[in-house]
Amino acid sequence: MIEKNFNFFFNPVSKVKGIGPKIKKLFNERKIDTNIDLIFNFPYGLIDRTHCPKLNNLEIGKISTIFVKVKKHNFPRIRRLPNTVQCFDETGEINIVFFNSRENYIKEILPINSEVIISGKVNFYKNKYQITNPDYVTSINNEENVTKIMPTYASLKGISNKTINKIYENIIKEIPDVPEWHRDYIIKNNNWLSFKNSLVQLHNPKKIEDLDKNSLAYERVSFDEIFSNLLIFAQIKKKNANVYKKPKIFSSDLKLKLIKNLSFTLTKDQETIIKEIDDSLKSDKKMIRLLQGDVGSGKTIISIITGLNVIAAGYQVALMCPTEILATQHLNLIKSLTKDQNINVELLSSSVNKKRQTEIKKEVLEGKINFLIGTHSLFQETVSFSNLGLIIIDEQHKFGVKQRISLSEKGGQNCDVLLMSATPIPRTLILSTYGDMDISTIKEKPFKKTTIITNIIPEKKIPDLINLIKKKIESEQQIYWICPLIEESTKVNLTPVLERFKYITKFFPENVAVIHGNLKNDEKNILMKNFLEKKFSILISTTVVEVGVDNPNANTIIIENSERFGLAQLHQLRGRVGRGIENGECILVYSKSISENGKKRLKILKESNDGFYISEEDLKLRGFGDIIGYKQSGQKDFIVADPMFHSHLFELAKQETDFYTQANLPIEKFNVLLKFFKKDKILNIIDSG
Ligand code: ADP
Ligand code: MG
Repeated sequence: MIEKNFNFFFNPVSKVKGIGPKIKKLFNERKIDTNIDLIFNFPYGLIDRTHCPKLNNLEIGKISTIFVKVKKHNFPRIRRLPNTVQCFDETGEINIVFFNSRENYIKEILPINSEVIISGKVNFYKNKYQITNPDYVTSINNEENVTKIMPTYASLKGISNKTINKIYENIIKEIPDVPEWHRDYIIKNNNWLSFKNSLVQLHNPKKIEDLDKNSLAYERVSFDEIFSNLLIFAQIKKKNANVYKKPKIFSSDLKLKLIKNLSFTLTKDQETIIKEIDDSLKSDKKMIRLLQGDVGSGKTIISIITGLNVIAAGYQVALMCPTEILATQHLNLIKSLTKDQNINVELLSSSVNKKRQTEIKKEVLEGKINFLIGTHSLFQETVSFSNLGLIIIDEQHKFGVKQRISLSEKGGQNCDVLLMSATPIPRTLILSTYGDMDISTIKEKPFKKTTIITNIIPEKKIPDLINLIKKKIESEQQIYWICPLIEESTKVNLTPVLERFKYITKFFPENVAVIHGNLKNDEKNILMKNFLEKKFSILISTTVVEVGVDNPNANTIIIENSERFGLAQLHQLRGRVGRGIENGECILVYSKSISENGKKRLKILKESNDGFYISEEDLKLRGFGDIIGYKQSGQKDFIVADPMFHSHLFELAKQETDFYTQANLPIEKFNVLLKFFKKDKILNIIDSG
């Protein structure tokens, strides 16, 4: 239930004085539907009319308010020439210039000999100061009513700034008082204003700093948003904590047998995390865990061992992969590692023929298949398990919170969930996006004896790469060559990949293949298999090899138009090489159109191989909304807060939400906050789930 004086915030904008059907439509197109949406649309700047110089003291480019007398009108009556009005004060003269104006209008607002106040940006033309299309003209008698400082809002097509400002004036004075929902000390320690006063202040800036993201008012509102975000996750987590499952009981026999088949020993980090996960499996609480670690940190083996433990406990395991290629690769790996065990591993995907698919589904239902691997199709309605105990999702960055909730519900009460992320996730992103989960982090890659050397070259040097490739091929190495996908509206343009394929084929006929998303799954699988078996040396590809693909013999990766990729994505791509005994080499090719910022980003990659560092930098440089997977996850970006800028507020908000959840305090008073920031819908899913 939302209290009565909160209703104001959820009224449609059409009720605001000054908003008719036309303006309503324009706001709605911007996703501004209710009063609170309108209010959260803060001004981005202001016009300062406190600068009132005499005419002998004008500065070009500065917004100035002048007190002058009108001397003469100039109406040239030639279409493209502007009307001008000559004005003066005791120190000098100025021309006020009007394009596309009517004479009568000018005569009305600037009658000869009248004393007026004019505001606008000063420029200089043909040896004379002028103000073109002033944003304010009024009679000197009106001085008291001249707004000295005017906020500027994002413009609406065809609507004057004056009208928009008037609308905001109307709504801001109607904002009702609302009771404080945070604890006193939070507000006091931070010197924050009330929620209402913060909003009012953000719409009535006195100086430009008042609008900064680190102004007290802006921080207060951002905190409210971040808090509501974390509160939702705390609620999901709490709900999960109340879901009891049958503890899984297993011995380590299967695991030990598998370890014998490994060509390496597990690292300490891996051992610790396997133990951590085992404890969760054995507990009576449902596990929803995110396993994160840098590229090549050895997440796969952890998930396979976890899977075996769950099978040892008498359950089935489902492993879901983002691509068919990766699913096939995992199938082969699990099969070879469990070859001397009585475990039934199968792949279910669209590349499997229909008849076999039906058989597999039947065997899954009968419990004959222990370990089922697949892509998204694993969670179609038609796949039912007899006794599913664990869902593993590899490279899960394409899943949003809603999908996670429905997935975990689909698995049933006794089903644990293990998500693995492709790359390390920055802390603020963890808090704001994965706050409902337990997190395991692999911190190091101690077994790595190789490094990856990264070089950056302009695209005009592409011909030089041919020699390099020749040498690599002579020493029997393989090469990835990545081209970006150019998406044109909904169509995917494959020209760059196909052109590159043609070009490289000229030099290395019969020794190159091209792979992209438009190929059939069968075709992709055969290509990857042939690549792994060294049937050809160069694989030209779109980013389909981005996630997880493992070919220890491919040690060079060339990435074209690298400035178009996110840093985390480039790091992930680069992680495809250096997986064997040789050092990897990554060549980032940039095009002519690269920006300064783009160059900086690539340099970060050249200088660091640390995925945790890179993902933080990526977040800083590209902002929150652009991080791969974040948009696709269906989560709305923050409305007010900037997670990169306000990371300190996340820590505070985490502290506060922990306080409420741990002490089991009622959170109804925050319902309105959740609704302000559109989190209430997620809450509804949890409540109905
Ligand atoms: P990612 O974390 O990126 O999914 P993988 O699980 O694919 O990484 O592991 C990368 C490579 O490291 C694989 O070839 C794997 O066999 C190998 N690997 C994993 N654990 C170890 C280890 N403890 N010692 C040596 N090599 C390992
Ligand atoms: Mg992996």
